[in-house]
Amino acid sequence: MQLIWVAGPAAKVVTFSITTRTVLVAVAAVSGFLILLGILFNLIGLRVAVEYVPELAQRMGGVTSQSEQQKIEADYRGKLDELNRQLTSVSDRLTQLERLKNQALGRLGIQKLLSFSSSVPTDGLLGRGGPMHLLPLWRSTEGTLKAQIEQSLEKAQRYDDAMQDMQSRWQKDLGRIDLLPTLLPISGDFVVTSGFGFRSDPMTHLPSLHQGIDFVAQQGTPVLATAPGVVLQAEFSGAYGNMVDIRHAEGFVTRYAHLQAIHVQAGQAIAPQQTVGTLGNTGRSTGPHLHYEVIFNGRALHPVKALAAWSRS
Ligand SMILES: [Zn+2]
Repeated sequence: MQLIWVAGPAAKVVTFSITTRTVLVAVAAVSGFLILLGILFNLIGLRVAVEYVPELAQRMGGVTSQSEQQKIEADYRGKLDELNRQLTSVSDRLTQLERLKNQALGRLGIQKLLSFSSSVPTDGLLGRGGPMHLLPLWRSTEGTLKAQIEQSLEKAQRYDDAMQDMQSRWQKDLGRIDLLPTLLPISGDFVVTSGFGFRSDPMTHLPSLHQGIDFVAQQGTPVLATAPGVVLQAEFSGAYGNMVDIRHAEGFVTRYAHLQAIHVQAGQAIAPQQTVGTLGNTGRSTGPHLHYEVIFNGRALHPVKALAAWSRS
């Protein structure tokens, strides 16, 4: 096919020879151009969409922009920061609790007792003392977000382990207190008529050292062991009258004197608050009362101050 184009007043004639080949070349060129244009617009459009309409970009194909990525990361980092703050606060609270418990035990002289024990872990997370301050994530330059999340979860696990460790140690510590004579020898109503120390002797009225505490209650009132132990002696013993001595943990002995009746015998294992006899007026006594002594390593101590004195010994 031939096209003849007559252009302008000069009537210049341009002749095109159109063959199948030229048509194909032209179609290919136009198509190529359009495809390139399409790709270019698509790229620009996607970029613009990704940066300014992230929701649309995500709907278009799960594409996340850098700013969107940063926003998500910042969100995660914020949550991680919060988690770490909470973990630090838990750590601080645990350390404070541990310190309080140790102060309380220290007043009772229990720290000394604990130092006897080799089973108490000294390398516990909290035992080393001082709270663990976690680095704020924002200042962290190393590690990916994933690694930081894993670290935080690991820390949480360690705190959980530390809590369980602390719980079992506390149970052990408090269990040891239960072995010492810390209970009362009389339940129900009683009056303490004579405390530990120097006093005017009730019979001679001469100054004398009273090595125990006198509990006045009704004759026949059950007298109770103040801690678990083993009966050392259960018989009449001169001025003490009917007397029971019980050996406890860590060198403690308790003495219950002037009993009306004795309900235990030497060598017998005794449970805390088990009845060892009844309150009476036997021996060198001016009326029904229980004379109670706490003896530590052979020396009579003030029953209330015994533990503190023992911790200093
Ligand atoms: Zn007495």
